[in-house]
Formats: sequence, C-alpha cells, structure tokens
Amino acid sequence: MIDDTLPQRRQTVPVDIGGVTVGGDAAVVVQSMTDTDTADEVATAVQVADLARAGSEVVRITVNNEAAAAAVPGIRARLDAMGVGVPLVGDFHFNGHKLLRRFPECAQALAKFRINPGNVGRGARRDSQFAEMIEIACRYEKPVRIGVNWGSLDQDLLARMMDDNAATRHPRDATVVMKEALITSALDSARRAEQLGLGHDRIVISCKLSGVQDLITVYRALAARCDYPLHLGLTEAGMGSKGIVASSAAMAILLQEGIGDTIRVSLTPEPGGPRTGEVVVAQELLQTMGLRAFTPLVAACPGCGRTTSTYFQELAGEIQRYVRARMPEWRQRHPGVESMSLAVMGCVVNGPGESRHADIGISLPGTGERPVAPVYEDGEKTVTLKGARIAEEFKEIIERYVARRY
Ligand code: SF4
Repeated sequence: MIDDTLPQRRQTVPVDIGGVTVGGDAAVVVQSMTDTDTADEVATAVQVADLARAGSEVVRITVNNEAAAAAVPGIRARLDAMGVGVPLVGDFHFNGHKLLRRFPECAQALAKFRINPGNVGRGARRDSQFAEMIEIACRYEKPVRIGVNWGSLDQDLLARMMDDNAATRHPRDATVVMKEALITSALDSARRAEQLGLGHDRIVISCKLSGVQDLITVYRALAARCDYPLHLGLTEAGMGSKGIVASSAAMAILLQEGIGDTIRVSLTPEPGGPRTGEVVVAQELLQTMGLRAFTPLVAACPGCGRTTSTYFQELAGEIQRYVRARMPEWRQRHPGVESMSLAVMGCVVNGPGESRHADIGISLPGTGERPVAPVYEDGEKTVTLKGARIAEEFKEIIERYVARRY
C-alpha cells in the first residue's frame, strides 16, 4: 500500500520570538515585512496591523537610521493599543550596532534582531560591530536571525574561500564555492554569537538566494549541518505569478523534506496592490500542502468548452472571498472551521464527484444541462438550487453548515 503520511519535520531547537515559537514541534510560522518608511510611525503601525490581521505571525520592519530606531517604541505602543500583539523584528544593516546602542527602547520593543553578517562592517570592525549587536541581544534577552543573503555576502570570506579553492588540485566551480561561503558565513556567525554568550536557543538562520535550485541546494546542506530553526524564503522572488511560482516551487520541495520552520514569500506587490498578498500566498502554500490550515479553501475546476459562461468562476471567487471575510468571526466561534473544504464546479462531468469529496460542494450546470445546481454536504446531495439567488443561497448553506459542524 502507498504511504500517505506527511513528512517528518527536521529536529530543531525551538526559539521564542515574542511569544511565537519557531522550530521544535511548532507549526511552520508565516512572516512578512513592511515596505513603509519605519520613521513614519502611523503608516508602519497600520501596515503591520494589516499584515498581522491577514495572518502574518511575525512582522519585520527595517531599522535603517536614527529616525526609524526612534519610531520603533511608538510603533509597538500603537500596535498594543490596537490590540495587535504581533512580534516585531528589526532588520539591521551597516549601522545596527550604533542604533541598538543609542536607542535602548528600540532594542527593548523588538522581539528579534535580524543581523546580516555581510553587512555589519569589514575587517576588524566587522567582528567588533557584530559582537556589539550580539551583546545587546544578550542584554535584552532577544533572539537573532543570522540572515545571510547572496546579494550581500561577506566579501572578505568569499575572497578567502575563492583563494583557498583556487589553490587546491581540483578547484570547484565558483558557484559551489559561493554557496559554501553563504553557509559558512551563517554557521560561523552563529558559532561566534554563541561564544559571545547568546543561547543556542536564541538563533534562527537563513541563507537566501534568488534561484530555485540554488536555494534548495543550500538549505539541504544547512539542514544537515545544524539544528538551528531555518527561515525559508526565496529572495527577490519577483512580481505576480513568477514570484508566486518560484517561491512555491523552492519552498514546497524543502518543506516536503521537513526543512523550514518559518517562511516568508518575498513578493513584489503590483503598484498600488496590497502588501498582504505575500501573507495569503504563504498561508495557501502551507495549507495546500496539508501542513497547516488557516482559512477554508475553495476547489474549482478550470472550466472548458462544456461551460457557456464564466458564472462558476465568478462564484468560486465570490465564495473564496466570502469565507476569507467571515474567518475573523468564525475563528472565534467555530474552532476547526479553517479545515473546511469547499468545491465550486462547472458541469456534471467532475462536478458531483469533486463536490462529494469536499465538505460542501456545488455543481453548476454546463452547456445543455438542466439549469439546476445540486449542493452536496458531507458527500450527500442535500438540496438543488436554481434561479438568480444561487450565490446567496449557497452562502446561507455554508453558514448553516459551519454553525452545525464546528
Ligand atoms: S467539471 Fe465540467 S466544466 Fe469543469 S473542467 Fe471538468 S468538464 Fe469542464
């Protein structure tokens, strides 16, 4: 018989990030990042709240200058006043040591510091500035993410490793050395942080690249060499379907191998588009893989020549938006509803079958079929809808089903 058990998660040390556990037995955590000017306290707090309400369980903000660092405590206070307790992570580059030293209230308000070892200074200054950030993390009992990125890889380390490679009898390809340098940068920095006193259970690692195969190769190696929780993400994934497909392809393969404790989908929003799109994609990735459930998902057929209108596509979209909008209330009153499955199908070929497999399904009439829409609940046909109010009546059926079952 086939084995349909879900993949075993890799064993990692759990890290507490402001009350959210990453790693250990915890479910894979969804996170995101703002794109507001952090110095704009109101705009940043509003966007963090939007991301949190969309389902982001940790939100990162850039802390790039003094005005941003000064704004962080106010952002935290505004969120608390709004009843939004989502942990904030500060993203530091180049001047993080100075900002954390000069703005202790910023250090206190953050739940984690992201440190990029390639951007903490060069030569002797690199070590002292890195050490200063780690000492502040220890003082305020904060975890850190050692976040390496191939676009800002430690150039001294890379040059050294390239030289060592060139001196060998059989030099490896430069891209292999670059990937090794990413991993070395992350793990050496983590080791150094521990030598400086940071707990083993206060470190999360990431090594982001923008190529799908490159990311998979690097994370497989990282997973084999440490037990720190791993933050997964394809950097600079891009816009629209390209960004979604590339991120999903890379992360799904790793998640299926049990690798990855927290994920971010780095989507470039459409101009004027919502920042929350990346949170929805991250949730849908985890939910469609059966790793977590956030909101009921609607299965819909693609349509074909057997359908004469786009009505079933419109209905599928309307129902998906409806259940997403109802989730804040349902989540409070009907625990478990996030696992509910729905189906909206276009004709009699696969409609009744798919609808029966869902908790609630509707099979709309295709070309030449009687203008009726049978509804299935828990695999049984319960009612047949027709006329102009099919959408409204189907929503009422969903409401009754939710109230009865959850
Ligand atoms: S269910 Fe019917 S309408 Fe939908 S794709 Fe299949 S055959 Fe076409």
